[in-house]
Amino acid sequence: MAPVIEKPRPIVVSGPSGAGKSTLLKRLFEAYPNRFGFSVSHTTRAPREGEKDGVDYNYTTKENFLKMVDEGGFIEHAQFGSNLYGTSVQAVKNVADQGRTCILDIEMEGVKQVKKTDLNARFVFLQPPSVEVLEKRLRGRATDKEEAIKERLAQAEKEIGYSKTPGVHDQIIVNDDLEKAWQEFKAFCVPDDQ
Ligand code: ADP
Ligand code: 5GP
Repeated sequence: MAPVIEKPRPIVVSGPSGAGKSTLLKRLFEAYPNRFGFSVSHTTRAPREGEKDGVDYNYTTKENFLKMVDEGGFIEHAQFGSNLYGTSVQAVKNVADQGRTCILDIEMEGVKQVKKTDLNARFVFLQPPSVEVLEKRLRGRATDKEEAIKERLAQAEKEIGYSKTPGVHDQIIVNDDLEKAWQEFKAFCVPDDQ
């Protein structure tokens, strides 16, 4: 009988904006360069300084985004603040074709939608130590205007509220001390390497 090749289960990372998702993912991709692949989302928001088209996001217009929605091009999509974000079918396929574990960095409405698909993902939530600390980190990151920071903080309360629903996440990691959070994150993503 042919051996059964198990497909790696995708990992969905969520958590409020500023919780530390990008920071921990950067470490993960550096520590395990061939094991994981990032699902590059589409977004209508403008690139931040240092972000690269096709690497951090596929930056697109609202018109094109909505066209893709109509054509069934997304596994999930949602509005966050005044922008649209979505995971294309192609983005996940690109990672699967490389035989790597697909990592999705998405917000709460996307999490709900992914749960209804057959992706069979594992879910990890990054929680800031408090909303006050989150605000400091968002301001310290200095990538968002005042209005966007306010929107992100309001959204954070909703994300944290939803994360408390039993069974939604396989693990919740409080990102207080970065080293401690990294160890926990690593153990979740690479359980066989601990
Ligand atoms: P996200 O991707 O979830 O929006 P980031 O990874 O961009 O969040 O982190 C937000 C800011 O907080 C960044 O400036 C980052 O350097 C900082 N940061 C992340 N984790 C910690 C931590 N444990 N302690 C202090 N600052 C942190
Ligand atoms: P940011 O603008 O800070 O990069 O992202 C804002 C929020 O959008 C974050 O919570 C991030 O996880 C989420 N996000 C990024 N890509 C996607 C996506 O494809 N789908 C959904 N639903 N959310 C996304």
